[in-house]
Amino acid sequence: MELLKMTTKEVKEYLQRRKTVIIPIGATEEHSDALPLGTDTFTAESIAMEVGKRTGTVVAPTISVGNCLSVTYAFPGTLSLSPQTLTLLIEDYLKSLYKDGFRNFLFVNGHGGNIAPIRCAIDTVSVTFKESRFAVGSWWLFKELKDLYDNAGHAGRGEVSIMLYLYPSLVHKELFTEEKRELPPYYVSLDLVKNEVTQTGIINDTQKGSAELGKKLFEKSIAVYIGILEKMEHGS
Ligand SMILES: [Zn+2]
Repeated sequence: MELLKMTTKEVKEYLQRRKTVIIPIGATEEHSDALPLGTDTFTAESIAMEVGKRTGTVVAPTISVGNCLSVTYAFPGTLSLSPQTLTLLIEDYLKSLYKDGFRNFLFVNGHGGNIAPIRCAIDTVSVTFKESRFAVGSWWLFKELKDLYDNAGHAGRGEVSIMLYLYPSLVHKELFTEEKRELPPYYVSLDLVKNEVTQTGIINDTQKGSAELGKKLFEKSIAVYIGILEKMEHGS
């Protein structure tokens, strides 16, 4: 159930039965020459829609520009909100949903730079909201996926595989590569990114993936999110 496709009457009726909403959040961000800028958004949105469909839960409009100021901002096409702006945007999302009666908020997150702003927004509203629960799931960090994929690398095997499964026509397989250099134990300013972190836009990973692996990652992620959603609805 997509909020954008519902009427205000339908939302009111839904809220008499359920108080849960799924919020997909991704990014518009460089993902090497082989994957589209919308990789994180497409992944988060697809997972969120499927979780929504299988559980009959409302899915809010996808937040498709995230916080990408470190590393990938050095590459063309990357859009970014500042961490402060993104935090405020998420707070406003939560407040809008809360005022109507939503109380369980599940973020399906597709991008690492969004984690801190989501957490800041939740911390802020949790002081004034009542009887509310918040969950943030970043699929590539799920321990349940570790046996399939154990590398949180950017634009690498995991993301390639999910995109090959969901949007094969957007994947430029002929441009697959890998960049496995040891990452520095510090953060760098943008001008140092290409010398010290990544030249290809891939961070410490290979792009040797497959649609088969993508299907497994997608399905297992959905199962984990549904588990979180059910626990949140029952108060654990
Ligand atoms: Zn990504």
